[in-house]
Amino acid sequence: MRLILLGPPGAGKGTQAEGIVQKYNIPHISTGDIFRAALREGTEMGLKAKGYMDSGQLVPDEIVVGVVTERLRKSDCVKGFLLDGFPRNANQAEALDKVVEHMSIKIDGVINIDVPDEELVDRLTGRRMCKGCGASFHVKFKAPKVRNVCDSCGGELYQRDDDTVETAKERLEIYHSQTAPLIEYYTKKGVILNINGNQDMKAVLAEIIEALGKIE
Ligand code: ADP
Ligand code: ADP
Ligand code: ZN
Repeated sequence: MRLILLGPPGAGKGTQAEGIVQKYNIPHISTGDIFRAALREGTEMGLKAKGYMDSGQLVPDEIVVGVVTERLRKSDCVKGFLLDGFPRNANQAEALDKVVEHMSIKIDGVINIDVPDEELVDRLTGRRMCKGCGASFHVKFKAPKVRNVCDSCGGELYQRDDDTVETAKERLEIYHSQTAPLIEYYTKKGVILNINGNQDMKAVLAEIIEALGKIE
């Protein structure tokens, strides 16, 4: 399965990715996670990305496309992959088309998680992430068993610098202007899977697994 997770910031892409990659045994490729890891390691790419991320802007396409192209060529992607947070604009989507064409593969499905804006700011500002494995928790909607400790790996939880009310609103605006048009782009290609993300997390996963079952 070669899949893309599409949806606004806070839609539940990272949360649902866990269940999807477990079921299909494919790598989870989150561009946001890659940038945050690079920043923690202090690489040049991470430092470059930080300014954009903190202000809620998109990291320039040439950086992101380079990172993804390199990642898709790794051997663990031969059986499939789940892209999360990429592509985020038309230029990235066209670049991805060229990469997959060059690799003689195709995207099987684009999972579009739909959640209304009014839910998203609460999800983003209450989000807590694991420093160890990148898992998402939420102070109200998905509290860890032990406060500030990851249920899966025991890592410490933290709040992302970009999960403030102000930056969340900026990211939502960018989503609507630059990323949402990709829904039509992939609908025209016949690969979109529309999922209601405004329900319980388990119900969202069930809807995704059902939709993927139809394209297997
Ligand atoms: P969320 O899951 O809340 O949407 P991500 O972790 O996917 O956030 O992304 C965090 C930030 O990383 C984005 O606001 C942006 O600055 C940067 N980023 C991630 N993916 C991309 C991308 N495909 N293109 C440009 N910037 C990106
Ligand atoms: P994304 O990767 O799309 O930015 P996340 O998966 O990190 O989104 O989810 C954003 C926040 O919302 C997290 O704190 C997560 O625990 C919470 N969340 C995810 N799905 C749901 C849901 N269906 N209902 C309520 N909260 C959710
Ligand atoms: Zn963890």
